[in-house]
Amino acid sequence: MIDVLNLTKAGLRDWVASLGEPEYRAGQLDHWIYREFVWDFNAMTDLPRGLRVRLDSEARIGIPKTVAESASVDGLTRKILLRLEDEHTIETVLMLYQDAPNSPELEEPHNPGPDFKRRTVCISTQVGCPIGCPFCATGQAGYIRNLSPGEIVAQVLAIARMASPITNVVVMGMGEPLLNYDATWQAIESLTDSERLGLGARRITVSTSGEVPGIHRLAQEKLQINLAVSLHAPDDAVRNVLVPLNRKYPLKELMPAVREYSARTRRRITFEYALIDNVNDRPEQARALALLLKGLLCHVNLIPLNPTPGSPYQRTPYGQVKAFERILQGAGIPTTLRVEKGIEISAGCGQLRQVEERKVGARQLHTV
Ligand code: SAH
Ligand code: SF4
Repeated sequence: MIDVLNLTKAGLRDWVASLGEPEYRAGQLDHWIYREFVWDFNAMTDLPRGLRVRLDSEARIGIPKTVAESASVDGLTRKILLRLEDEHTIETVLMLYQDAPNSPELEEPHNPGPDFKRRTVCISTQVGCPIGCPFCATGQAGYIRNLSPGEIVAQVLAIARMASPITNVVVMGMGEPLLNYDATWQAIESLTDSERLGLGARRITVSTSGEVPGIHRLAQEKLQINLAVSLHAPDDAVRNVLVPLNRKYPLKELMPAVREYSARTRRRITFEYALIDNVNDRPEQARALALLLKGLLCHVNLIPLNPTPGSPYQRTPYGQVKAFERILQGAGIPTTLRVEKGIEISAGCGQLRQVEERKVGARQLHTV
């Protein structure tokens, strides 16, 4: 059975034509799905009844079932657990911000909600992740499969229905997006298409652990989204351990690819750097990082390491975090500390994983 969410705009038009229907039906379907958040063909009242019945028997709109929801104590971070067709589960996070953006890549939204200036959804692109970073819960849980384009875009839809309007999307959930390039890109096209979700490309950020061929591809795309690179170390010796993909694409390959992306797109690159006690947080490492990034239009996002079960790593004490930040800023590198979001519900960076439903007990199940 065809999942309509997996169809590009052109694909949907062709499919509608193959049913012997006029092309504008594709626009009607897009409107219901991406604008009205109606995912039941029978409720699409401007379609003829016969067509609704036919669609219902031949196609589906693959919004995964939300099997658990949790909210942080301050209510500003919400996490949903979605069950896919094959029973695997993925996590998607909504983050609400009342304040001004703290990163240059997150500009003021054109359509702020009544209470919150930014409503950012963090989406996953794979079930698990093959990269295996030792400080990341997703990486430690192993890799299962790529998500389809529909499964990626459905995460934004599921959240948008409960907290519209969504202003930003960060592809920073489970998985390495550039290892699932085609599906991720197709989903981004649905997010940005003016007849679908209609988000500005500048409101979308893709984070990569350093999949160099994917960065080259991204640099060639017409649509210019924001790129974030999970750096975490200024030298290969430490980065080989923290981000195992570095053994395949060391810094001497990664950095030129990032510089090329920046030169072609003139977009500011975000570097993510999770500060880990006694591993990557020494003053000389801050100085080496400043040297590595010299002259590049960029921004460093320092993330105090989020706790994950079984990890040998500890977060850097706050005083040292500030010292690291000062060295970077002193060297002229724009640097911010990432605001911690949803740590107590394990919705923070690197805390997402496949969760069995029974582990998410009734205690965590809130109505949000
Ligand atoms: N796989 C992609 C995108 C998802 S991870 C990537 O690695 O870029 C999103 C971000 O969270 C990455 O920068 C990742 O390195 C970071 N991260 C992972 N585990 C973390 C943890 N325990 N604490 C803080 N940040 C973490
Ligand atoms: Fe994968 Fe990113 Fe986690 Fe590394 S940090 S294991 S690349 S999700």
